[in-house]
Amino acid sequence: MVTTQNTYADIFNALRQHAPALAQTTAAERIAKLKRLHNLLMSRRTDLQKAVYQDMQKPAEECDLTELFPVLASIRFATPRLAGWLKPKSVATPLPMLGTTSHILYEPKGTALIISPWNYPFNLSFDPLVSAIAAGNSVLLKPSELTPHCAELMQNIVNELFAPNEVQLIQGDAAVATELLKLPFNHIFFTGSPHIGKIVMRAAAENLSSITLELGGKSPAIVDETAQINDAAQKIAWGKYSNNGQTCIAPDYVLVHHSQEQALVDALKKHIAHFYGSNDAEQISSKSYGRIVNQHHFNRLLLLLQNAVNGGATISTGGTYNEDENFISPTVLQNLAPNDELLQQEIFGPILPIIAYKTIDEALSIINAQNKPLSLYIFTEKTQNADFIIENTTAGGTCVNNTLIHFFNHNLPFGGVNNSGIGKTHGFFGFEAFSNARGIVRQKIPLAATQLMYPPYSKREKTIIDLSIKYL
Ligand code: NAD
Repeated sequence: MVTTQNTYADIFNALRQHAPALAQTTAAERIAKLKRLHNLLMSRRTDLQKAVYQDMQKPAEECDLTELFPVLASIRFATPRLAGWLKPKSVATPLPMLGTTSHILYEPKGTALIISPWNYPFNLSFDPLVSAIAAGNSVLLKPSELTPHCAELMQNIVNELFAPNEVQLIQGDAAVATELLKLPFNHIFFTGSPHIGKIVMRAAAENLSSITLELGGKSPAIVDETAQINDAAQKIAWGKYSNNGQTCIAPDYVLVHHSQEQALVDALKKHIAHFYGSNDAEQISSKSYGRIVNQHHFNRLLLLLQNAVNGGATISTGGTYNEDENFISPTVLQNLAPNDELLQQEIFGPILPIIAYKTIDEALSIINAQNKPLSLYIFTEKTQNADFIIENTTAGGTCVNNTLIHFFNHNLPFGGVNNSGIGKTHGFFGFEAFSNARGIVRQKIPLAATQLMYPPYSKREKTIIDLSIKYL
């Protein structure tokens, strides 16, 4: 393991020195690298499953679906399109620039730092890596220290696939990240909490490194009076309890029209029972239900739950736990006090508060009083209701009548707004994040209209400038 600032600087310098050579690589060369990564990940599928199980008891199927598949899909999306993304894009020429042509060239930013979280350790490390490689950068990757088995496996994969001056992985905690953030990376791609996001942004300012911040926060789900309750409950339960609620885009809480509250709670109970079992014994031995990543987060969630109950919240289902296993059962809460902490901070665990509303304006004012969410989910049978909610809120992304799935469409930008994130990723948007969109003008004939406005400013130049201001 690397331990000194000098060594980090040495690694960074090697990556930086190699960046110009990587910038010259063709689409075919980058595609070949991405395919090698694709094939190696496929061949390590069971190793990935084992590592995430060791770190957080994530079910193998969830590992396939939410760790491996998104990275493979990302590579499969990028490879047939990369040559097109790298081609100069012609843009129109305004009248005063007749005699020129203009185009945008996507060139690599240079050397990028990727800092990733623990909740989807492979997905959120390798997915940005795919974009960074597609864009032609050298990369330093720092995964989370909270999922050490995954970090170790990723280290082996990176070492096997890449030269040390092309991609390096450094394991370590906040102290390591702090040292890395002192280095003048051209781009920093950070996925994690808004609190650490601010630290990253401050550090980036020192070097004027560009940033992508993929952050978190509270993502609401609205279930209106027209919603198909059984369907909504199934999709909310899947979005909430997959990965034990430790998903940045999990529905954090539900706002339900008061006429549907009890039906929704009953349907949630039914789907929880179907997914994971109907009692503690079944749920704790369920092969489909994961665990809280560590004792710190387990204790944090338990305290939130106990405080909510002490504050008058009622447990509709769940609320049980086993501290030896960092197990908290799938929990639904009702009747929370409006100022309950569970309604203020990102929950990031299998606890789902339900809040009943009488008018949609009441629901919207609860959402709009908080930071802009990463995701907002709407369950309704009326298109105009969905449109009204979309028009009167903002969010990084939205699904109507589903949860989470916008993450899987690589034609869509993925990311937050302000507190939930800055910048977008996935597909072309990920490639763009790691690229400098260089605007290029070529003067094709010697005479340029701008020459007519050069000094000294006599009557003729002034007239042309006046006409330009009025008419062009
Ligand atoms: P975190 O912010 O605690 O840690 C993320 C990374 O930052 C880790 O690698 C960690 O080592 C590093 N880090 C910790 N302290 C640091 C410091 N002082 N300076 C620099 N780096 C530091 O986040 P987490 O607990 O790993 O992940 C949970 C959070 O991430 C939640 O808020 C969740 O919503 C968010 N998240 C967002 C997305 C997204 O795509 N928007 C995806 C997953 C998770």
